[in-house]
Amino acid sequence: MIYFDHQSTTPVDPRVVEAMLPYFSGTYGNPSSHIHAQGVAAGEALDNARLSVASSIGAKPEEVIFTSGATEANNLAIKGFVEANADRGKHIIASAIEHYSVLAPLRSLQSRGFEVTYVGCDKYGMVDPVDVGKALKHDTAMITVQAANPEIGTIQRIQDIALFARKHDVYFHTDAAAASGIVPIDVDVLGVDSLTLSSHNMYGPKGVGALYLRTGNRLSCQIVGGMQESGYRSGTENLPGIVGMAKACDLAKAEASTRIELLKNLQIKLWDWLANNVEYLEFTGHPMYRIPGHVSFWVKFIEGESLLLMLNMKGIMCSSGSACSSNLRGHDEEDLAASHVLTAVGVPAEFCSGSLTVSMGKDNTEDEVDYMISALPSIIERLLAMSPLYADKLKGKDPYSK
Ligand code: PMP
Repeated sequence: MIYFDHQSTTPVDPRVVEAMLPYFSGTYGNPSSHIHAQGVAAGEALDNARLSVASSIGAKPEEVIFTSGATEANNLAIKGFVEANADRGKHIIASAIEHYSVLAPLRSLQSRGFEVTYVGCDKYGMVDPVDVGKALKHDTAMITVQAANPEIGTIQRIQDIALFARKHDVYFHTDAAAASGIVPIDVDVLGVDSLTLSSHNMYGPKGVGALYLRTGNRLSCQIVGGMQESGYRSGTENLPGIVGMAKACDLAKAEASTRIELLKNLQIKLWDWLANNVEYLEFTGHPMYRIPGHVSFWVKFIEGESLLLMLNMKGIMCSSGSACSSNLRGHDEEDLAASHVLTAVGVPAEFCSGSLTVSMGKDNTEDEVDYMISALPSIIERLLAMSPLYADKLKGKDPYSK
């Protein structure tokens, strides 16, 4: 079996598991129990983990808030900011290709009287900072644009958008879940006010994430209770998970260059082969500014879901875009039925469920890419033979020529 779905989740690195193990039954104290040895040891482990996560993104430890994952971090950054800063205005700018964990809190704010301008992107999925500028209003409180897109792989010009936000004194949040552990991040170089990190995108455990919050910004707590995490997030910390995330950050930092080199090589190999050998193929996302190891495409006349299933039958696991959004497709909400990301980059609506995302990881090999390359021609040939759209094309009625 070949796993090419690292944007959905990654396996936990054995070194991460090893780092976590002592924090289940050995050091099991509550980090808030400052009075006894168990609590103190747990508190120290939490402090060290915070330091690791912070230093992996160039932040100060007190700027890291642990959460249950990227979804919660995005909710906290977005709802938390506007609730704590009611005087900063009721207008928000977001990209149209954000993850649902950004779009859903924005929708809920819209129902509470906030106005959201969704800025589009070009055919490569790139948001133009000039368009963000044009969307600015006198009462813009916040801009939120993701660092990288899990479905089409495009990495955004966060630095340019952040410069603009800072110039106009607008709070800028970026969801860096899809970039976690694979696209190097320095919060000062980026110039963001807040940034979401995901543990399970970088060989850490699921159910844990972090929000970076630049000193000087205020958020209102979304999960109220015991006011852990400097009052930003209540609930006893998931210490084994946090220690695991910290170890995953340490490893990502130490191994960044090797991982990136490997993933770029695998990416180029697959990309070049597809470009030269598969007729009717259209890549999605940016050809250069993309997540290392990420290749995404659709093939005219062929349904992406069928391609996905047939690859799976050959033991190759990929995804048709965002794993999270696949839960939403087919639900009553019509506007969630097709991928909003593919629609935004101009893939014809009738093929919006049709793209394939291959997201490779640090343990994938060239042999695995070769295997995929050897499996693809016969699969594509079979799917074309079964395709009514392709039959139409052979009869001279090409649906794409309209
Ligand atoms: N943002 C982005 C860009 C994502 O790809 C994901 C899913 N991996 C999330 C947020 C939400 O992550 P989680 O489901 O782990 O909370």
